[in-house]
Amino acid sequence: MATINENYLKLQGSYLFQTVARKVHEFESNNQGARLIKLGIGDVTQPIAPAITAALHRAVDEMGAAETFHGYAPDLGYEFLRNAIVENEYRKRGIDIEPDEIFISDGAKSDCSNIQEIFDHNSLVAVCDPVYPVYVDSNVMAGRAGNFSEETKHYSRLIYLPCTEDNGFIPDFPKIKPDLIYLCFPNNPTGVAITKDRLQEWVDYALKNDAVILYDAAYEAYINDDQLPHSIYECSGAEYCAIEFRSFSKNAGFTGLRLGYTVISKKLKLHGESVHSMWARRHGTKYNGAPYIVQRAGEAVYTPEGSRQIKEQIATYMKNAQYLKSALAGAGYTVYGGENAPYIWLKTPRGLSSWEFFDLLLNNAGVVGTPGSGFGSHGEGFFRLTAFGTYENSREAIARIKCL
Ligand code: PLP
Repeated sequence: MATINENYLKLQGSYLFQTVARKVHEFESNNQGARLIKLGIGDVTQPIAPAITAALHRAVDEMGAAETFHGYAPDLGYEFLRNAIVENEYRKRGIDIEPDEIFISDGAKSDCSNIQEIFDHNSLVAVCDPVYPVYVDSNVMAGRAGNFSEETKHYSRLIYLPCTEDNGFIPDFPKIKPDLIYLCFPNNPTGVAITKDRLQEWVDYALKNDAVILYDAAYEAYINDDQLPHSIYECSGAEYCAIEFRSFSKNAGFTGLRLGYTVISKKLKLHGESVHSMWARRHGTKYNGAPYIVQRAGEAVYTPEGSRQIKEQIATYMKNAQYLKSALAGAGYTVYGGENAPYIWLKTPRGLSSWEFFDLLLNNAGVVGTPGSGFGSHGEGFFRLTAFGTYENSREAIARIKCL
């Protein structure tokens, strides 16, 4: 008799954004004609830049002609894209990464949830709290949960690294030694970035404790401060202990096109086994490659026009972020993030819980955000707003919030 994977039964409740969507749907059904301002889900809103759509059109035409048609992509992705990534994202920053250390994929979500497959089932996994829920849920699905405690709201085989106002939302080292450590900077949901010195301390910690850091840099394009690291490979020794995830979703608006990549140095070995080879095997077995036309679109991101156009888009989002942050601070809110990331992490007023504030904002201001507690117990009492809307909507949202 077929039986289900019981680990799925351990997943907590419905996914955060489904609950938000349900509440929004209920509100809209009960308030026909009300105009909601949605600053909740972290999805981009600007269209694909012209240099990139031009590349897409060209690639589509190639696919329609026998001489230029492309079937399955190479396992690691097309060389033209891997070369462009290495040159522009790494070598320009003085980082020594080879094109065959880049694995092209359909995005960072798949990679950062699938990567755990190549590690031992009993690995102890450290995650930040609050956290991008995908890291937790993918490990729960894989059986690394242990029991869930209603009291702590935590799984016993996961190590939670509190990110609080006290530590500036940068986690301290845990008391229990983890095997895998997920770090994400600039961070979703807190919008906080990490300094190179602090990241180096984490790399040193991982090297000393034989741990692997799974570094999600999906938001690196939003870094404004020149001193901050864009890649964990800017830290010395990271090639021996870190895997990096990158995405074209937030820097170039590919959330609907789907493109990302994972970087694994060939120097990363565990008990003499190459992690790069393991991931190559996994990638080749379970994944048949991002579409040719999308990889050509990714290449166009690195052309002079493409890169200028996406920088303008990011600047537009960051104008919103700066506005939201300063206006909320001016209105008396305690606000974090928003300087090197498209997320604003605000403290809920008057001791309201995250969901209470969500309901207040939805019902009395018609503004949708994301309750911090949905990202983990240390997110309780916080609330996330995104800068991915328009400037007009950001202003309107603030005007409404000020009237609360
Ligand atoms: N990592 C983080 C921290 C994210 O916030 C997101 C999306 O919101 C992703 C990864 C997913 O990126 P992608 O669209 O490339 O799958």
